[in-house]
Amino acid sequence: MSAIRDLFNRHLHCTLAKDVSVATERDYYLSLSYTVRDHVMSSWHKTHREYYAKDPKRIYYLSLEFYVGRSLTNMMINLGIHGLCARSLYNMGLRMEELEDVEVDAGLGNGGLGRLAACFLDSMATLALPGYGYGLRYEYGIFEQAIRDGFQEELPDDWLKFGNPWEVPRPEYILPVQFYGDVKWLDDGSFNWEDGQIVLAVPYDTPVPGYRNNTVNTMRLWSARSPNSFDLSYFNHGNYIKAVLDRNLAERISMCLYPNDNFFEGKELRLKQEYFLVSATLQDIIRRYKHFRTGMKDRESLERTNFDLLPMKVAVQLNDTHPSLAIPELMRILVDQEGLEWDQAWEICTSTFSYTNHTILPEALERWPVTLLERVLPRHLMIIYEINRRHLDHVTTLFPGDLDRCSRMSLVEELGEKSVNMAHLSIVGSHTVNGVAEIHSNILKESTFRDFYEMWPQKFQNKTNGITPRRWLLQCNMPLANLITEYIGEGWITDLDQLTKLTQFLDDDVFVQRFMQAKMSNKRKVAKMLRKDYGIEVNPNSMYDIHVKRIHEYKRQLMNLFHVITLYNRIKANPRGQFTPRTVIIGGKAAPGYYMAKMIIKLITSVADVVNTDPDICGRLKVIFLVNYRVSLAEKIIPACDLSQQVSLAGTEASGTGNMKFQINGALTIGTLDGANVEIAERVGEDNIYIFGMKVDEVDELKAKGYDPVSFYEENPELKKVIDMIRDGYFSPDCKDRFHNLIDTITVHGDRFCVLADYADYIKVQEQVSEDYLDQKNWARRCIINVANGGFFSSDRTIKQYADEIWNAKPVPIRDEDEAGASDVSA
Ligand SMILES: *Cc1c(COP(=O)(O)O)cnc(C)c1O
Repeated sequence: MSAIRDLFNRHLHCTLAKDVSVATERDYYLSLSYTVRDHVMSSWHKTHREYYAKDPKRIYYLSLEFYVGRSLTNMMINLGIHGLCARSLYNMGLRMEELEDVEVDAGLGNGGLGRLAACFLDSMATLALPGYGYGLRYEYGIFEQAIRDGFQEELPDDWLKFGNPWEVPRPEYILPVQFYGDVKWLDDGSFNWEDGQIVLAVPYDTPVPGYRNNTVNTMRLWSARSPNSFDLSYFNHGNYIKAVLDRNLAERISMCLYPNDNFFEGKELRLKQEYFLVSATLQDIIRRYKHFRTGMKDRESLERTNFDLLPMKVAVQLNDTHPSLAIPELMRILVDQEGLEWDQAWEICTSTFSYTNHTILPEALERWPVTLLERVLPRHLMIIYEINRRHLDHVTTLFPGDLDRCSRMSLVEELGEKSVNMAHLSIVGSHTVNGVAEIHSNILKESTFRDFYEMWPQKFQNKTNGITPRRWLLQCNMPLANLITEYIGEGWITDLDQLTKLTQFLDDDVFVQRFMQAKMSNKRKVAKMLRKDYGIEVNPNSMYDIHVKRIHEYKRQLMNLFHVITLYNRIKANPRGQFTPRTVIIGGKAAPGYYMAKMIIKLITSVADVVNTDPDICGRLKVIFLVNYRVSLAEKIIPACDLSQQVSLAGTEASGTGNMKFQINGALTIGTLDGANVEIAERVGEDNIYIFGMKVDEVDELKAKGYDPVSFYEENPELKKVIDMIRDGYFSPDCKDRFHNLIDTITVHGDRFCVLADYADYIKVQEQVSEDYLDQKNWARRCIINVANGGFFSSDRTIKQYADEIWNAKPVPIRDEDEAGASDVSA
């Protein structure tokens, strides 16, 4: 305890150069963070010393996003010093919870895909797997959302403003990355890519501790820096000032995270980001590989490196197609730089890469125009053409004369602007392709990538997503975590299947009561936050009905809102009636360029204004738009939830991970048979989840016979009333036609995500929810059944499956310093 205090004071005085008389909360937060960072160092060194000594197969998780959120609490918990730090601070008159709240989220992701990458790092470290996260160190993460006049506004996320205590810059390991330039055909028949523009990649390392196991892995994020030679022509012409100013152009590459979720925007800067990550990372991987093959550090080997062993030492996982240029880049390195034959290089390549698909929405699939690739990455385009030529030869051999199939399977698409289909490139260049939930993986095999599945059935796998139980239960929900530990011990933290032990307490009144008390204390805390931040009074006894995720038409926040307006109309029509009180909380960011999503936000805030101020409602319905939804806010809101909204149109949400967080925090789900909801339903049983709406085949059927949303509007009076109110300006008296476009998309423009078709069933099931909620004890029992069956959704299970079934990687346990000492004594 005194050691923590001494370190803390030393950092306050020496690192931050502050005296207690002028120190702020942030200074205390930073002092504590540096203190915790000191504690991670010895295990971090030890882990990498061990990897160096054993040279195990390493896993490289390549992702354009790592949505880490805050680190302080997670570091303390995983290092096993959380209680110690809390007590030490308390003795110094400081409250740790307040310091924890100072930390700004590392918002280097948009939503589920980025958060998955962060959960995977936690699980790889906890399972003692030699795993590295490789990504970009964006100077600006996901924008900060503000609401003005009910509309979303975007503010820059200047998250590094006060420094980042968790990262270590390593300018000594800078690597060059080339763009543009020309391809020269050399005398020996080989190709060389030269005369391009060089941008430097500076690595920044962040420690990733496993849960109390001494493993500390590394997340390495690249930052772009201009070389001194950047645009020499200006220097040569004496325009020194312009030459220095133009260095910024190169450094823009890692400036900003693209704020699109499930949407492809073919911007040149984004292509450069993707290649920047891939090029720097593959250089790093190959440097590390060569080090072990040549025996001496940084020594130019006279013999050629044997790359045949690469797939035994390296597994590269592509998180969606965003880093898929890694495939032609490794080919370029092996063929152009290392002098391997094409066939040998290709064999190595396809044994090294595996690809995770995250969506089947066509607007999200990356298709880079050939003209852009030719200019920015000319040699890579040539390599892609050669990969495609050989691939189509192979297709023709297997399916002679099937020209349609060849054109469907080509990496190069000629329809519209000639483009490279990056998903096709990823499938051809990987040994394994996986979807992220059973239903999604089946759709990939049966429709999206059917031709590829017919050619390589053994390539296709499923790896149902998961979430780390450290952050998403132990850390965010202390009341519930402590209760669980009291009854079943703490084994669940690293073996989440142990939660099934909770079923033995389903009829234990004391346990059920205490479960309800834990939920109530979380709900009160959220009520307090809403009072403070929104000036809204919410009833903690009301049902907390929560829908938080990115705002997207396919996620159908609009359908939720239709239910809210239906409830509102029913209360208005029967003001003295009995209604289960609800607090409906909707939150999420809209991509700044996504007009419909932004109008949905404006509609939510407009409905909230009407509902929350209508005296007839009498507190039986409250609507809150939760501003700036992000990882740290998810940690606060999810433990307080009663009803989790997971209502995407069947066949559109690949998996979802928000659904899992709510389940293990003791909420019941209302959802469609989409993504991982299907697997949640299988595990908790149909009595403990509210499933509604069309199934995938019913959606297909409806669309095949010609879906007419207007007929649903005309035949359902309550639905008609809701739509008429929105269209006729009931919620927008200042601008009556504000929501015309919104209504048009779900009526005359066809309602692509079938909001109207699923409305009636949704309302019906919501009625059942309202009725069931009145029996609080039975509701709590069903929540406990949900928690008890959440074990499968631990990302530890997911990562174990990746390690066994895709990566063929083994754990490398790191011995405790003390244990090492003990064995030394006995030796
Ligand atoms: C888990 C999470 C998501 C993903 O939620 P879905 O409901 O699966 O879309 C998005 N954002 C944040 C901040 C999260 O923590």
